[in-house]
Amino acid sequence: MRRKIAILGATGSVGTSTLDLVERNPERFEVVAVTAATNSEALADIARRTGAALAVVSDEARLPDLAERLAGSGCRAAAGTDALIEAAAGEAELVIAAIVGCAGLRPVMAAVEAGRTVALANKEALVTAGALMTEAATRSGATLLPVDSEHNAIFQCLACGRKEDVAKIVLTASGGPFRTASAAAMREATPAEAVAHPNWSMGAKISVDSATMMNKGLELIEAHYLFGLPADRIDILIHPQSVVHSLVEFVDGSVLAQLGSPDMRIPIAYALAWPERIATPAQRLDLATVARLEFEAPDFSRFPALGLAREALLAGGSAPIVLNAANEAAVARFLASEIGFTDIARIVGQSLAEHDFAAPRSIVEVLEIDRLTRQRVAAALQAA
Ligand code: NAD
Ligand code: MG
Repeated sequence: MRRKIAILGATGSVGTSTLDLVERNPERFEVVAVTAATNSEALADIARRTGAALAVVSDEARLPDLAERLAGSGCRAAAGTDALIEAAAGEAELVIAAIVGCAGLRPVMAAVEAGRTVALANKEALVTAGALMTEAATRSGATLLPVDSEHNAIFQCLACGRKEDVAKIVLTASGGPFRTASAAAMREATPAEAVAHPNWSMGAKISVDSATMMNKGLELIEAHYLFGLPADRIDILIHPQSVVHSLVEFVDGSVLAQLGSPDMRIPIAYALAWPERIATPAQRLDLATVARLEFEAPDFSRFPALGLAREALLAGGSAPIVLNAANEAAVARFLASEIGFTDIARIVGQSLAEHDFAAPRSIVEVLEIDRLTRQRVAAALQAA
């Protein structure tokens, strides 16, 4: 029996790596639905290649083009939020959540509410709706499998012990392209410099997040919701080689880590095949060649996003939504060369300091806080 899967964000970096693994294992997986934001050409190609029954483009203006490209293929073309939800909560048993940003929240939540197994790359969905999503998963019996390499590593290490025996978890971070840059150089950093990650090839938004280290901040919040540990039991450790993907310390002082070459196909494969494993074409880890594994403490002053994310996690309620929305808005402005690199954390800090939203009781409220925060960021930048 092949496992029915849906790939949300199939045209992106994680989506492409997922497709690579799925197409190498045709006897294991049947792709039933694929989605993308606007690229109807790439999506139609993926749908034809995989034989998906449903292809969804979020941008309704791209539907005629998608439908034309899929004519005669047997794959139904659809567009908009309801179709995205149908892709997520339809016939797929396993949903690969690889949309970037809060835009993925509705479909991820629909899959969770429908009790599906969700392989979660879309960390922003969990950051903005962590409590609502984990409660929904408990109600529906949905399983959340972390795809983010650090959380996937922790998930693997946790399989070697009991949760009650965990002392703390340690998220490793490469430090990004500006790990050793001066504060002055960071003020002048361009989008091209910021997206040039030393170890990983990823989408533009997460690459900028890695440069500001907001990525690690979002991952701190993600880890809190995935593993149920308080902020003071989740450490961040700089590890420039990206070989040790994260660690778990148990009460007896034993520390377990998961290692591997920096290739997202390894954690994606683990989520796809869990609780089994499948082969991947990822480069084998050769520690003699790596030779040295380095570690250092993070610098909270050059990377203020780390402190802001910790503050948002401790504040709880709507603070993580505001953190994420302000960051998404600021990163988009930075990528459009409208603001400077260090303005990103400044805008996030200002948004957190000024917000007065109550804790959300529903996804509708989460999305409203997200919208209002983006609106405030736009207004503040207009006034400046
Ligand atoms: P990407 O930009 O390469 O791809 C994003 C995908 O989402 C694309 O298919 C795009 O069409 C779709 N999309 C974008 N905006 C959308 C919208 N408004 N509505 C619907 N679909 C939309 O991003 P990525 O690097 O693959 O990252 C995807 C997610 O995985 C992010 O949350 C990221 O943080 C996380 N992640 C990525 C990596 C990585 O190696 N790329 C590693 C860990 C976690
Ligand atoms: Mg990560």
